[in-house]
Amino acid sequence: MDRKRLICYTEIVNIIFKIMHMDKKFLIEFKSLLLNEKAELEKSLERIAKPINKERGDYETTFEEIGTDREDNTTEVEEYAENLPVEMALEKKLQDVILALDRVESGTYGFCENCQKEIEIDRLRANPSAKTCIKC
Ligand SMILES: [Zn+2]
Repeated sequence: MDRKRLICYTEIVNIIFKIMHMDKKFLIEFKSLLLNEKAELEKSLERIAKPINKERGDYETTFEEIGTDREDNTTEVEEYAENLPVEMALEKKLQDVILALDRVESGTYGFCENCQKEIEIDRLRANPSAKTCIKC
Protein backbone atom coordinates (compact mmCIF):
# COMPACT_ATOMS: atom_id res chain seq x y z
CA MET A 1 0.00 0.00 0.00
CA ASP A 2 1.51 3.38 -0.92
CA ARG A 3 1.43 6.30 1.47
CA LYS A 4 -1.37 8.18 -0.25
CA ARG A 5 -3.64 5.18 -0.20
CA LEU A 6 -2.80 4.49 3.39
CA ILE A 7 -3.83 8.03 4.39
CA CYS A 8 -7.08 7.65 2.54
CA TYR A 9 -7.72 4.33 4.27
CA THR A 10 -7.03 5.81 7.73
CA GLU A 11 -9.42 8.65 6.99
CA ILE A 12 -12.20 6.24 6.11
CA VAL A 13 -11.58 4.26 9.29
CA ASN A 14 -11.72 7.51 11.27
CA ILE A 15 -15.02 8.49 9.68
CA ILE A 16 -16.52 5.06 10.43
CA PHE A 17 -15.38 5.34 14.05
CA LYS A 18 -16.93 8.81 14.26
CA ILE A 19 -20.27 7.56 12.91
CA MET A 20 -20.28 4.61 15.29
CA HIS A 21 -19.46 6.87 18.20
CA MET A 22 -22.22 9.31 17.23
CA ASP A 23 -24.68 6.44 17.02
CA LYS A 24 -23.73 5.26 20.45
CA LYS A 25 -24.07 8.75 21.90
CA PHE A 26 -27.41 9.17 20.16
CA LEU A 27 -28.70 5.90 21.59
CA ILE A 28 -27.46 6.68 25.10
CA GLU A 29 -29.13 10.10 24.95
CA PHE A 30 -32.47 8.77 23.76
CA LYS A 31 -32.41 5.76 26.03
CA SER A 32 -32.14 8.07 29.04
CA LEU A 33 -34.94 10.29 27.65
CA LEU A 34 -37.14 7.20 27.24
CA LEU A 35 -36.32 5.88 30.71
CA ASN A 36 -37.22 9.26 32.23
CA GLU A 37 -40.49 9.31 30.33
CA LYS A 38 -41.24 5.73 31.43
CA ALA A 39 -40.67 6.61 35.10
CA GLU A 40 -42.90 9.69 34.81
CA LEU A 41 -45.70 7.71 33.14
CA GLU A 42 -45.49 4.93 35.73
CA LYS A 43 -45.71 7.51 38.50
CA SER A 44 -48.82 9.10 36.98
CA LEU A 45 -50.40 5.72 36.29
CA GLU A 46 -49.86 4.42 39.78
CA ARG A 47 -51.97 7.27 41.14
CA ILE A 48 -55.06 6.03 39.31
CA ALA A 49 -54.33 2.43 38.39
CA LYS A 50 -52.63 -0.70 39.59
CA PRO A 51 -50.11 -2.61 37.46
CA ILE A 52 -51.17 -5.97 36.00
CA ASN A 53 -47.94 -6.48 34.10
CA LYS A 54 -45.46 -3.68 34.67
CA GLU A 55 -42.98 -4.98 32.10
CA ARG A 56 -45.56 -4.74 29.33
CA GLY A 57 -47.09 -1.54 30.68
CA ASP A 58 -50.44 -3.16 31.50
CA TYR A 59 -52.47 -1.32 34.10
CA GLU A 60 -55.97 -1.52 35.50
CA THR A 61 -57.89 1.54 36.58
CA THR A 62 -58.71 1.51 40.27
CA PHE A 63 -61.12 3.48 42.36
CA GLU A 64 -61.12 4.24 46.02
CA GLU A 65 -63.56 2.34 48.17
CA ILE A 66 -65.37 5.32 49.64
CA GLY A 67 -68.27 3.44 51.13
CA THR A 68 -71.00 0.98 50.39
CA ASP A 69 -74.18 3.04 50.24
CA ARG A 70 -75.71 4.17 46.99
CA GLU A 71 -74.24 7.65 46.97
CA ASP A 72 -70.76 6.38 47.72
CA ASN A 73 -71.00 3.86 44.92
CA THR A 74 -72.06 6.58 42.51
CA THR A 75 -69.01 8.65 43.46
CA GLU A 76 -66.79 5.61 42.97
CA VAL A 77 -68.23 4.92 39.53
CA GLU A 78 -67.90 8.57 38.56
CA GLU A 79 -64.28 8.59 39.65
CA TYR A 80 -63.64 5.40 37.71
CA ALA A 81 -65.27 6.84 34.59
CA GLU A 82 -63.13 9.94 34.93
CA ASN A 83 -59.89 8.03 35.38
CA LEU A 84 -60.43 5.41 32.71
CA PRO A 85 -59.68 7.50 29.60
CA VAL A 86 -56.69 9.12 31.35
CA GLU A 87 -55.39 5.70 32.33
CA MET A 88 -55.84 4.34 28.81
CA ALA A 89 -53.99 7.28 27.25
CA LEU A 90 -51.13 7.00 29.74
CA GLU A 91 -50.98 3.23 29.27
CA LYS A 92 -50.80 3.56 25.48
CA LYS A 93 -47.99 6.12 25.81
CA LEU A 94 -46.15 3.87 28.28
CA GLN A 95 -46.42 0.91 25.91
CA ASP A 96 -44.98 3.04 23.08
CA VAL A 97 -42.08 4.01 25.32
CA ILE A 98 -41.48 0.34 26.26
CA LEU A 99 -41.49 -0.64 22.57
CA ALA A 100 -39.06 2.19 21.80
CA LEU A 101 -36.73 0.92 24.54
CA ASP A 102 -36.92 -2.55 22.94
CA ARG A 103 -35.88 -0.97 19.66
CA VAL A 104 -32.91 0.71 21.37
CA GLU A 105 -31.80 -2.75 22.56
CA SER A 106 -32.34 -4.45 19.21
CA GLY A 107 -30.59 -1.67 17.26
CA THR A 108 -33.61 -0.61 15.22
CA TYR A 109 -34.35 2.55 17.21
CA GLY A 110 -34.66 5.75 15.17
CA PHE A 111 -35.85 4.06 11.96
CA CYS A 112 -39.34 4.50 10.55
CA GLU A 113 -41.56 1.44 10.98
CA ASN A 114 -43.18 2.18 7.67
CA CYS A 115 -40.47 3.18 5.18
CA GLN A 116 -37.41 2.02 7.20
CA LYS A 117 -35.71 5.39 6.72
CA GLU A 118 -34.17 7.34 9.58
CA ILE A 119 -36.66 9.33 11.66
CA GLU A 120 -35.81 13.05 11.78
CA ILE A 121 -33.85 13.91 14.92
CA ASP A 122 -36.14 16.88 15.70
CA ARG A 123 -39.12 14.59 15.63
CA LEU A 124 -37.42 12.18 18.02
CA ARG A 125 -36.49 15.01 20.34
CA ALA A 126 -40.13 16.13 20.43
CA ASN A 127 -41.35 12.57 20.85
CA PRO A 128 -38.64 9.99 21.66
CA SER A 129 -41.08 7.10 21.20
CA ALA A 130 -42.09 8.11 17.63
CA LYS A 131 -42.46 5.03 15.42
CA THR A 132 -42.63 6.69 12.03
CA CYS A 133 -40.97 9.56 10.14
CA ILE A 134 -42.73 12.87 9.38
CA LYS A 135 -43.71 11.76 5.87
CA CYS A 136 -45.35 8.50 6.96
ZN1 LIG B 1 -41.37 6.74 7.05
